[in-house]
Amino acid sequence: MHYKRWARHGDPEVTMVKKECKVAGCERRHFCKGYCEPHYRRMRKEKALEEEINQINQQNKI
Ligand SMILES: [Zn+2]
Repeated sequence: MHYKRWARHGDPEVTMVKKECKVAGCERRHFCKGYCEPHYRRMRKEKALEEEINQINQQNKI
């Protein structure tokens, strides 16, 4: 997928636009992947936890 690369480098104005966190009601500044820093960290943590649970479930199946 190259569209992300294009979105990043293709139009400098797009990256300069001040974005906000996409979590409803959160007005913090955009940090990464559409989230502010605390929400991004939480999202990553939850995703990591989810992957860990999936791995445990897979291990239990075998
Ligand atoms: Zn947020």
